Amino acid sequence: MRVFIMGLFVTFFLFLPVVSYGMESMPANSITVRFDLDRHLLRGVSKIVLPAGDEAAVDLSGLRVLTVTVDGAALKTGPETSVVTFGPSRSAETVVIEYEIEVAKVPAADMEKNPGVVQGNLIEPSGIVLMGGWYPSVRGLSVYNLTAVLPPGFEGISEADQVTVRETADRKKEFVFSFPHPVGGITLVGGSYKVQREDFRGTEIATYFLPEDAGLAKKYIEYTKKYLGMYNDLIGPYRYKRFSIVENVLPTGYSFPTYTLLGREVVRLPFILETSLGHEILHQWFGNMVYVDYKGGNWSEGLTTYLADQRFEEIKGEGWDYRKQILISFGSYVNADNDFPLKAFTSRMDYASRAIGYGKCAMVLHMLRTLVGDQNFFDAVRAFVEKNSFRPASWTDIKAAFETVTGKDLSWYFKQWLEEKGGPQVEVKNAALSYRGSTAVVSFELEQKGKDFKFLLPVAVKTKEGETRKTFEIEKKKTRLEIETKGSPTELVIDGNYDLFRGLSAKEFPPVISRLLGDPKKIFVMQDGKKGDGSSAVTEYLKSEGFAQKEEREVSYDDLKASSLLIFGSDSPLAESLYAKGGKNDQDFVLVMRENPYNPKGVIAVVDGPASEDMVGYLQRMMHYGKYSRISFRGGRNTLKDIDASARGMTRKVAGEVPGVEIARLIDMPGVIDKAAGKKIVYVGEQHDNFAHHRVEYEVIRKLHERGNKIAIGMEMFQKPFQKALDDYISGAIDEREFLKKSEYFKQWGFDYTLYREILLYARQFKIPVIALNIRKEIVSKVFKEGLYALTPEERKEIPQDMDLSDLQYKARLKQFFEVHKGAESSNFDFFYQAQVLWDESMAHNLAAFMKNDPDYQVVVVAGMGHLAFGSGIPKRAYRLNGQDYSIILNDGDIEKNISDFALFPSPIKPPETPKLGVILKDEKDMVAIEALAPGGVAEQAGLRKGDLILAMDNTKIDSADDVRIFLLYKKTGDTVTVRVRRQRFLFGPVEKEIRVTL
Ligand SMILES: [Zn+2]
Repeated sequence: MRVFIMGLFVTFFLFLPVVSYGMESMPANSITVRFDLDRHLLRGVSKIVLPAGDEAAVDLSGLRVLTVTVDGAALKTGPETSVVTFGPSRSAETVVIEYEIEVAKVPAADMEKNPGVVQGNLIEPSGIVLMGGWYPSVRGLSVYNLTAVLPPGFEGISEADQVTVRETADRKKEFVFSFPHPVGGITLVGGSYKVQREDFRGTEIATYFLPEDAGLAKKYIEYTKKYLGMYNDLIGPYRYKRFSIVENVLPTGYSFPTYTLLGREVVRLPFILETSLGHEILHQWFGNMVYVDYKGGNWSEGLTTYLADQRFEEIKGEGWDYRKQILISFGSYVNADNDFPLKAFTSRMDYASRAIGYGKCAMVLHMLRTLVGDQNFFDAVRAFVEKNSFRPASWTDIKAAFETVTGKDLSWYFKQWLEEKGGPQVEVKNAALSYRGSTAVVSFELEQKGKDFKFLLPVAVKTKEGETRKTFEIEKKKTRLEIETKGSPTELVIDGNYDLFRGLSAKEFPPVISRLLGDPKKIFVMQDGKKGDGSSAVTEYLKSEGFAQKEEREVSYDDLKASSLLIFGSDSPLAESLYAKGGKNDQDFVLVMRENPYNPKGVIAVVDGPASEDMVGYLQRMMHYGKYSRISFRGGRNTLKDIDASARGMTRKVAGEVPGVEIARLIDMPGVIDKAAGKKIVYVGEQHDNFAHHRVEYEVIRKLHERGNKIAIGMEMFQKPFQKALDDYISGAIDEREFLKKSEYFKQWGFDYTLYREILLYARQFKIPVIALNIRKEIVSKVFKEGLYALTPEERKEIPQDMDLSDLQYKARLKQFFEVHKGAESSNFDFFYQAQVLWDESMAHNLAAFMKNDPDYQVVVVAGMGHLAFGSGIPKRAYRLNGQDYSIILNDGDIEKNISDFALFPSPIKPPETPKLGVILKDEKDMVAIEALAPGGVAEQAGLRKGDLILAMDNTKIDSADDVRIFLLYKKTGDTVTVRVRRQRFLFGPVEKEIRVTL
């Protein structure tokens, strides 16, 4: 006999790695344990019979060893001894170990990152939970026989096909657990349980609930019967004689051979019966009958998730949604830094490993099922269970079972999905519809963005008559695919049932809490100067969860672009600058997830809640609501949980819906005005240079005014800082020339003034207030070029505090426009989008401010069509601010659903054009210079030259380019004017000249 004693530190695994198998050569371990609960003490004796022939290692780590004898002879060990190894011997050896363990600390659960997993033991007067490291164990499988002496009133549970109980002389209870199968390790649970038992097809079902929960037993037994029956039929017989549901004082969700251990909080949740219980029962087959050989990865969680959690949803017709949730979780938590191949999964450590080992694994099995078909799939699972019961099995055994049943080589499949990280990232391009005779052909290109995977791609073409489905085998980077159908195609839907493990497209990926939690770059933003009581606790907590901290004023465009944010206070300036003012709520805690308008991968959470310790509690609870987009709580209870709508599958419209309008009664403009007259705001959309549109605006104003309505006119063409010039002009205090100068009309707006003149003359005649709706051009231009966050604090004062950037359809329309027109002022779409929204918000705010001061007015707003179409620009924003009803009249607009209330199609009218000099002018100090001449223009023909300084026209003194424009406003084509210029001459100095120009 050779014995090696080692002082190694041996890490404890919940499931010990298994190294050998074979009943005949199996060590037998008989353990007897007694307890002193007040001292958290276990005293035990383990008698291990090692079979002849094999080497063996007895693990003593964590135990206080009192004595060790080998075949009756004492073996000297010290407190540092953790492993005793035995060389091969010719006869069986008996090792007896007396030992103690003391468990003083209640193990802590990490309920946030890894709910249900508690590693550690408990010995307390309230109960005993021993899950590992509490007895000397032989590495590998052993056959166990456990005797536990428990205090009076205690019930004991361990892996057992048979339990015998007797009362000891000192009135304690002795439980003997017999379990005839070899197993990697055993557990022991004790407590003052109420036990209920029932027989189900020869299996004893028992519940061990704490007295206060005993009422739950009936339902648990009923559901257990259902699950045992279901899995008996689906994957083969339940091979144990007993099954128990045991309530745990620790918050666990575990399954061991013959029983499941569910936390106290868990068993009380009503949905556990429909979800986790089935999962844990299925683990009786996967993990507890067929053991997991951890070499090459833990397959049991994925297989259990797939045939329990996923299957329960599948039976309800919601399997697609469950699988989509798997992809959302994976997309939220797994990134390049924490991804690993499936074969490296052993147990969950956090949400990312869970998304891989449970979620991705379930998808890999689902794809295997679609690959081999239902019949083969379940035949193979049954064969796998049958062949591998009571022994450790690996992915290799699963592969073998599937290859035997299908007769196919599946090496490529298992290699790809076990050894590669991630999954396919696919993009659908160039979807198109064509016809071959009467057959419609929908074609598209599928491109793999990352690594090339081989997979099946289910595609559906929706038609007016129904749908046509086809599955394609994809292998290459780019594949051109087509589907023929006899129907009339409307939409292409790729993987609408989530049969493929893949990256989700943006439209399928709603803003949910898990995306915030899973973003490695997440920032929480405290409001400047608003540091309430619990703020340090909140800060500490969020930092421990991986958030970086910023104060509101420190948040930059780059932060927004690169991160996900958690913003405290829907009334914080930052939140209001993104999503406008939120509504009031009467909840204690509200969290709303939004898309981050600057970062398609990121999200933004806006949180309202108590600024105290309570906030930490709510934030902790947020972790359990990862799949939701909005949650709220009141008085500690959840009052709302909701997921934002997202696309089902990757979809493409193939034949745009042909828009049609039912012309109930073609009405003329007076008819439209009649209908719009009752609304508080009437928006009229124009193309700025289309005079017919301005005529329509004028008519709307005139007709409403003639009805006796008290009206005001809101105009995009003037900017708020110039309101006084408008007021003075309307009141008659200044004339038109002065008005145009003071309002900087030509610099700020610039379109020929005659286009708008009629409207302003009418307003002046009847003293109709005109509201300057716009923001200074300089600010918008800066935003176009440098973005909103480049504005100085001074400039920021001129822009609205609350802006809503969340209208994604508007954003998409602007994006389309931007792609066509980019390069003009801005090359950054974010800045372009900000500038557009800034425009819209400014006009909406200025309009609302006027209406707040003067609530009696009906306002006619004249603005560019882009600011009005679909209500996205000004109307919905003004409505958000003041709730006033409105109607939208567009001129020559497209006929599209919801684009406007009325569409007018006025005949083109030639505008009363202001004559042009044909020069480009440049303002210099108190003078205006000719910077360039239009070739063949009237100025060039008359002899004006580049560099000439214009001093006067006829007898009007000219100081600025505005003066020239205003002067010309009162001239007609064909008029002759005298232009007085100063011309620089080489060597001779300046000379003044008078030149006659015929316009
Ligand atoms: Zn599980």
